[in-house]
Amino acid sequence: MPSFVIPTKCDGCKALDKTACQHICPNDLMVLNKETMKAYNRDPSMCWECYNCVKICPTQAVEVRGYADFVPLGASVTAMRSTEDIMWTVQFRNKEIKPKRFKFPIRRGVQEGKAQPFGHYPTGDDDLKSPTLMCEPAGLNTERGRVKLDRVSTL
Ligand code: SF4
Ligand code: SF4
Repeated sequence: MPSFVIPTKCDGCKALDKTACQHICPNDLMVLNKETMKAYNRDPSMCWECYNCVKICPTQAVEVRGYADFVPLGASVTAMRSTEDIMWTVQFRNKEIKPKRFKFPIRRGVQEGKAQPFGHYPTGDDDLKSPTLMCEPAGLNTERGRVKLDRVSTL
């Protein structure tokens, strides 16, 4: 389900050096055509379908369309963010079917832009040598999980 840009909605992020979709794409797929000032996904086959560009676009110009085997009625998905929540809109190709909207909170007591990406968990090069994931064992929150991880670490 790769993303694609709707040219009529894209304003090229008002000629910033790097557009929002370019900034956020983990696979460096979004490109800005400097002549038309429209962005595009240069290789949809490489798209991770992470929806980052969909969520960050300030003009809702990026959509994701489901594959026919997954979404047989054909639908596109767009996102609209606020500081408190995100609204996903699913628009079916058959316009007789009303769009479906899903709204979710995106922050719990954290101001926009103030989130700590690693929380209180330790980070650093030493962690790369650890057999556990970054938030483990504390993140597992179970004694049973800790026992399992202790066994792993003694292998
Ligand atoms: S983030 Fe949206 S408006 Fe900005 S360049 Fe990308 S598609 Fe266009
Ligand atoms: S969905 Fe993710 S991987 Fe695909 S173009 Fe957008 S940001 Fe890049």
